[in-house]
Amino acid sequence: MTRSRSLPPRLPGAGFRVFHLLPLAISFVVLVCLSLLALQLWMTLRAREVQLNEAARESANLAQSVAQHAYDTIKEADTVLVGLVERVEADGVSDLELERIHKLLVTRVGELPQLHGIFIYAKDGSWLVNSQKTLLRNLNNSDRDYFKYHRTHDDRGPYVGPPVRSKSTGDWIVTVSRRINMPDGSFGGVALATIHMNYFRLFYERFSIGDKGAIFIANGAGILLLRRPFDESLLGRDISQFPVFHDYLPKSPVGTAVIKSRVDGVTRINSYRRIEEYPLVVSAALSQDEELAAWLLDTVIQHAVGGVLVLLIAFIGYRGVRQIDLRVKSEAGLVAARNELELINETLARLANQDGLMGLANRRHFDQSLSAEFSRAQREESTLGLVLIDVDFFKQYNDIYGHVAGDECLRKIGKVVAYSMRRPGDLAARYGGEELVILLPGTDLAGALAVAESVRHAVQSLGIEHRGNPLGVVTVSVGVAAFMPSHLENQAVELVELADKALYKAKAAGRNQVCYESACEPAEQLATVFAFR
Ligand code: GH3
Ligand code: MG
Ligand code: MG
Repeated sequence: MTRSRSLPPRLPGAGFRVFHLLPLAISFVVLVCLSLLALQLWMTLRAREVQLNEAARESANLAQSVAQHAYDTIKEADTVLVGLVERVEADGVSDLELERIHKLLVTRVGELPQLHGIFIYAKDGSWLVNSQKTLLRNLNNSDRDYFKYHRTHDDRGPYVGPPVRSKSTGDWIVTVSRRINMPDGSFGGVALATIHMNYFRLFYERFSIGDKGAIFIANGAGILLLRRPFDESLLGRDISQFPVFHDYLPKSPVGTAVIKSRVDGVTRINSYRRIEEYPLVVSAALSQDEELAAWLLDTVIQHAVGGVLVLLIAFIGYRGVRQIDLRVKSEAGLVAARNELELINETLARLANQDGLMGLANRRHFDQSLSAEFSRAQREESTLGLVLIDVDFFKQYNDIYGHVAGDECLRKIGKVVAYSMRRPGDLAARYGGEELVILLPGTDLAGALAVAESVRHAVQSLGIEHRGNPLGVVTVSVGVAAFMPSHLENQAVELVELADKALYKAKAAGRNQVCYESACEPAEQLATVFAFR
């Protein structure tokens, strides 16, 4: 049997490592891009939140200023009313008294710029006295909201009524009034202070609230007194069902909320506040869009720059990943080509050493092995057995059965010989024509004779018909020789010649038998070989 040449194992190659690098590289690029986008998104949302908080703080401060202003303005007017009510209730409304009060009112109105006028009405609504230089007495105010209110409510607190146009001047005014009682506690009339609407309006105009900001002041019942931007049609409108009154004020007297206006549809950051001492509510609101305009511009710029950056990274990453991919593919191709080449080389090497007909080693391989094994045997002083086999009457076989049958017969004998090998180091080869040879390293003459006899017996046992052979079947003659370490001067070629000599002996002795030849004297041969001739 041929000994297989040991080849280096086929390796997966560097492509194997790179193969793992590819998904890693893709994941890395994707992760970097996603992280950048996530970071940018987080920064954008954070900046928006900061901007909205800033706007909420600003609108709260604004509402505080508006509330303070409203309180101060009305407080001054109301202080006058408190004194007036006390005086009328105590001193009555004689002509002399009214004359004195008139002078006082003219002075008071002159002192307080926000005051449009001060009035005292009798219980039937007729004008008793007022702050105008010329007294008008032929008017009646019993139809006014504040008058009706005090006539039907006996509380003594101030009342802020809906905005009205002054009957005397035609100006828009805000009314603050108190009830006057008769000595028995029944309704005795109304003391009224009117405040110029413009006084509030000019104050509100001072604030910088953008184009879409809004400020309003309403009374406790939710009647709008004034709103910036100013719209006359809105004055006196009932806004008690609007979110500030309906949803937020019941929960807290002060607060901030983002509300979409029912008046103009603008979404605003709305800070509202109920004034404690007077039935008033103020609100200052900044447009969310306007407040976020700067943020929006920053966001657009940031996202444009960030987007370009992410695209750049993605592009560079894509190029890198493509390079790796190409490398993986080319390396895989190279490895496959190398493996294929190695396989071809291996097959070629095997074929170069093999005999095509018998499937055994060829003569060339045998010659190489003989020389190597002989040298080794000499070096290690070990024995080396050689068995030479020749088919008997094979010429006749060819003649009788034809060359093709002859080839088939040789193939069968080749198989028998191959199966007779016992050790991995044994080598069976076709020596030439119908001759075969077996090289048996580490085997002495007795061992080699045993192998030879088993081959001879096995071939005969095949029972291949051969009419040209006296035995009627195909047989072989075998010559055996062995290298003995005690005869170190021997050459490899001598070993073959000895085996050939032995084979000749076997032929001469009648064929189908095993004979041996030895370099030493026949007396030195082992007793165990007596069975062989
Ligand atoms: P002997 O018993 O003395 O060996 O007689 P023999 O006829 O076998 O004589 P010899 O060994 O000289 O004959 C060898 C023959 O083997 C000659 C040739 O026709 C035949 N032969 C050699 N190689 C092949 C082969 O590859 N195929 C076939 N079919 N025949 C072969
Ligand atoms: Mg021959
Ligand atoms: Mg022969």
